[in-house]
Amino acid sequence: MSDTEDPSAIDEITNFRAKRLRQLLYITLACLNLGVALIYIFAYHLPTLLTLVGCDIMMLYALHTLLLNKVDKAASILLWSISVGLTIAVLLNSGLRDPAILSFPAILFFAALMCSRREFTLLYVYFCTATVLIGLTHLSGLRNEGYDPVNIPNIAIILLILTAASLSIRTISHDLRSALSKLEKGNRQLKISKAKAQYMAQYDELTGLPNRSLCQDRFNYQMKLIQRHGGQIALLFIDLDNFKTINDSLGHSVGDQVLKTVAGNLAQCLRKVDTAGRFGGDEFIVLLTEVNHIRDVQKTCNKILNAVNQNIVLDSYSIQTSASIGIAMAPKDGADFDSYCKKADIAMYQAKADGKNLFRFFDASMNTVSQERFVLIKDLRDALKQNQLTLFYQPKVDLRTARLVGAEALIRWQHPERGLIAPRQFIELAEETGLIVEIGDWVLEEACRQCRSWHEAGYPDFEVAVNLSSVQFARGNLTEQVEKALSQSGLAGKYLELELTESLLLGEGEHILTQLSNIKNLGVSFSIDDFGTGYSNLSYLSKYNLDALKIDQSFVFKMLESKQNLNIIIAIINIAKSLDLTVVAEGIESAETLEKLTQLGCEFAQGYYWAKPQSSADFLKYVEQNNVNC
Ligand code: C2E
Ligand code: MG
Ligand code: MG
Repeated sequence: MSDTEDPSAIDEITNFRAKRLRQLLYITLACLNLGVALIYIFAYHLPTLLTLVGCDIMMLYALHTLLLNKVDKAASILLWSISVGLTIAVLLNSGLRDPAILSFPAILFFAALMCSRREFTLLYVYFCTATVLIGLTHLSGLRNEGYDPVNIPNIAIILLILTAASLSIRTISHDLRSALSKLEKGNRQLKISKAKAQYMAQYDELTGLPNRSLCQDRFNYQMKLIQRHGGQIALLFIDLDNFKTINDSLGHSVGDQVLKTVAGNLAQCLRKVDTAGRFGGDEFIVLLTEVNHIRDVQKTCNKILNAVNQNIVLDSYSIQTSASIGIAMAPKDGADFDSYCKKADIAMYQAKADGKNLFRFFDASMNTVSQERFVLIKDLRDALKQNQLTLFYQPKVDLRTARLVGAEALIRWQHPERGLIAPRQFIELAEETGLIVEIGDWVLEEACRQCRSWHEAGYPDFEVAVNLSSVQFARGNLTEQVEKALSQSGLAGKYLELELTESLLLGEGEHILTQLSNIKNLGVSFSIDDFGTGYSNLSYLSKYNLDALKIDQSFVFKMLESKQNLNIIIAIINIAKSLDLTVVAEGIESAETLEKLTQLGCEFAQGYYWAKPQSSADFLKYVEQNNVNC
């Protein structure tokens, strides 16, 4: 049986054959009994009578075999008994002149449809031999009852007819069989794909748990029941606490194994009436039905937390998992499935905020600010997948030559309902949730790709500056990510500048030092963003191999009015000069500020004076209009 063959389809065919054979056996039995009766009454002839009775018994035996589900054997008994019976009848009556000989091709036809090729050939050989033997008995005068004598050409003609008939029958039946088997195969494949499609529409492929749509169906069904009979349902939203780290550090296949193990553990905590499902990623859902008391829900939640909170050993890794659970109670907390999910989701984030590995019931007092925040985090998760993130570019100018040298890439979120969202509104959330790692990878790749396209558009010296979050260093594979972004885009490392925050460089962080020097080896340069706002101990500046300081815009904005700010800027420029670092000023909005900064020896600048951050297309237009000179 091939792997696509469906045993049920084969059963269907066997059943069909058995049904037809049974009908044939009944008809044959009826005919035989009628024959016995007619011969007994009208033309009593003992040998014929005995032959018919013998066939009768064999038919009953075939019927018995069929009842034991041995279809092939039953067909064989039927054919051979009829064939032998008819041969005897032919021999006993008019020999080759007997009309019964006409049934030989008919039996062959039946054999071609019901039996194997071997059985068919055996029957053909049998009929030929029988014809020759019967003919010989006539020719030799052994049996000659006064009928027309036969001669060798007569025998040869019968043999020829038998051969021609069996060849045509064999060919036709072969065509029929192959057409039928093709049809069967198509039918079987159709059934399999239909079943597969049905399964995939309702179940999660990785864990085998019901997916969102099946969970929704079950929830709606349970809701109808409680509306009629009363009672409660608990909808549990479960999210693994550290799944992202597991996936990022150990790879997707380990991540998948963890999800499968968690799914198995989860299912074991539930009763038969409950449902565990997966919404995708590391989000699971549980429907607890027939809930009599909140205590029962708490008990199950504790059970689930215990089952998930354990060391999973996989491929020589020992992985610690835990989960946070948010619970919405029906009919109290909502109107429809989506609103229950949303509330359970909010409660789940509350559980995370309260320290993880906990469960929390949704409570209306979970204030709207935090609800909005939760919703924003949720949306941010989708933003990457749905290509809602985009990069804007702010020109960077060399003050010594007044020429454009490249741009800083600044992220924007094109939210489907809220419009364009500035980074200050979501970067912090992204950092808290760890989403910044994925977002940061995307920013790196996109910025490098864009810079490479400027080179191709005729600006081969343009550089791009990308902001990095300290969280991106924590993961430990930033070097590989930078390498990947450069190699995918074909951009040389010297055209990429990474902007770091002061706070990142303050700790002891041996691992940061290693990563920085590895990235540096790729030709990439580093600058300190918003310099001057952070820390007063500047010893870190000599510890790391940096390239530039970016004066924070808060000093630049008021440098002409505030002597203090001006002094800070002068001090920063001096520090940079003495450490052999270049200086970039941010937030230049007026010609006066520009003039002053140039006078002070600041080398590079950005600001609304030239342009606000703009889309890549607008940036290119800007560059073309200004012909690189600013
Ligand atoms: P930043 O890196 O210091 O970027 C400079 C910010 O100042 C930008 O705000 C820019 O639009 C704004 N700016 C530039 N020139 C002027 C000016 O002349 N006047 C005024 N009033 N503002 C000016 P934006 O784009 O809202 O970015 C805010 C911060 O978000 C950035 O500060 C950076 O820390 C962060 N950020 C932006 N994109 C990313 C990113 O891809 N990854 C990370 N980790 N952080 C990012
Ligand atoms: Mg920056
Ligand atoms: Mg800045």
